[in-house]
Amino acid sequence: MDKVISSDPRAVAVSDIIAAGRRMDRFGWVPATAGNISCRLPDGLIAITRSGGHKGMLTPHGVIEVTAEGAPVHEGDRPSAETLLHCQVYAASPRTGAVLHGHSVASTVLSMLAGDAITLAGYEVLKVFEGQTTHDTSLRLPVFDNDQDIARLVRVIAPHMPDMPLGYVIRGHGVYVWGDDMGMALARLEGLEFLLACELEKRKIRT
Ligand SMILES: [Zn+2]
Repeated sequence: MDKVISSDPRAVAVSDIIAAGRRMDRFGWVPATAGNISCRLPDGLIAITRSGGHKGMLTPHGVIEVTAEGAPVHEGDRPSAETLLHCQVYAASPRTGAVLHGHSVASTVLSMLAGDAITLAGYEVLKVFEGQTTHDTSLRLPVFDNDQDIARLVRVIAPHMPDMPLGYVIRGHGVYVWGDDMGMALARLEGLEFLLACELEKRKIRT
């Protein structure tokens, strides 16, 4: 990813978010106005994509600032309803610096076929996730039912937050993945989407 050479953390965050949107778009993970992308700023505020707009064609205007509770910092800015899910991830760990949410085909389809989790086992790529040193393991990707009431969804997810090494999926909707910085979050999203795409292919071959 091209890095902006700047001492202004806001400029760096905006640049990181725009670059992440383009990368997610290249893979087809942010169709139409889907998805949202955020970074935590050093002062605790969160830079996040504005509601609506294509994430593959973001400009600096497409990134706004919200408080740790999700309230817009500048009057008139409209954060996405899902901003509260980003805030929840940041509140769970002071280490988290970036959160990504996309709507890929694989995460959408597999979560509609799954129960309360998708189990991923035996893949080399599992090593991209923290604490995993071998492919010879299985990791559980929790699946939560979609809900337009995001505050209620936050409450459903809350008890699971401490133990979600892969992130999570909202059924028929998409993934949430995070990392210490944007580079780590993107690597983890790419790893998870690769695993989900493999699972989808395996199921096609079985039937
Ligand atoms: Zn969404």
